[in-house]
Amino acid sequence: MPTPYAYFRGELVPLEDAKIGVMTHAFNYGTAVFEGIRGNWNPDDQTIYLFRMREHFERLQQSAKILMLDMRDSVDRLCELAVEIVERSGYEEDVYLRPMVYKSTEALGVRLHNLESDTLIFVTPFPAYLPESARCHTSSWRRVDDTGIPPRAKVTGIYVNSALAKTEANLNGFDEAIMLNADGHVSEGSGENIFMIRHGKLIAPTPADNVLEGITAKTVVQLAQEELGVELIERAIDRTELYVADEVFMTGTAAHLTPVVEVDRRPVGDGTPGPVSRRLSALFFDVIRGKNARYRDWCTPARVRVAR
Ligand code: PMP
Repeated sequence: MPTPYAYFRGELVPLEDAKIGVMTHAFNYGTAVFEGIRGNWNPDDQTIYLFRMREHFERLQQSAKILMLDMRDSVDRLCELAVEIVERSGYEEDVYLRPMVYKSTEALGVRLHNLESDTLIFVTPFPAYLPESARCHTSSWRRVDDTGIPPRAKVTGIYVNSALAKTEANLNGFDEAIMLNADGHVSEGSGENIFMIRHGKLIAPTPADNVLEGITAKTVVQLAQEELGVELIERAIDRTELYVADEVFMTGTAAHLTPVVEVDRRPVGDGTPGPVSRRLSALFFDVIRGKNARYRDWCTPARVRVAR
């Protein structure tokens, strides 16, 4: 049986022993930053491939800087720890690693300064997050603005904004929310970046549209350029442009590449995943499982080595 491990207070421990106190600052005020890293199981290689792990830890560093959190470990060390956790835990399925840097002081008082920080990592099994194709609606909740809580940083507290939007979407019968930013342009999903294909061009909101600068998005853009010869245009996108787009898709560590087949009850294109989404998705799924030699550098192998 797999036994999940965690990195907690500087040590590797069984996940069940990693517990924080109720007065922990991050628990009370949302003062933590985190990452989500996919470990993709490849049964032929009997290996879990950690996808673009280094980039995730680098983004964690950036998020930590914005929230004035100190990271006790280097990116290199965190990469080693992540592999160690996956190997010790013994999963033979897709997993998800959750690194977090958090204000660990057990004291009240809203602020960022004069507080201790700590880093943790845990692992959990993680199957598909969205259906194979998604029906979306435009959320009545606006995406948080850089002038309020910076969405460029993956702050735990921001996910209240995402949770409001996701729940509204699900309770209204949709798979995912599309959030507009403060000026009314398309920003992103509750946990995904969004793209559209119009007139053969791949178009995405700009980094200034209050999006998290996604690692899956960067991956898909590179695959589109190198494998399909399709270039990216970053610009503001109106809500109704999604209605008339040829294709729309979302990207994210949890969501992979998910075609959006309906927006606000209008079919996208003919209401089925379009050709660019399908080609990109096929490439993407091979790449993340270490099956495409050209992009193998993005995959860090973790091999189960527990006694059976
Ligand atoms: N936007 C938000 C709000 C997210 O939570 C995520 C998931 N981390 C993404 C976009 C996609 O980012 P990535 O591809 O790096 O996972």
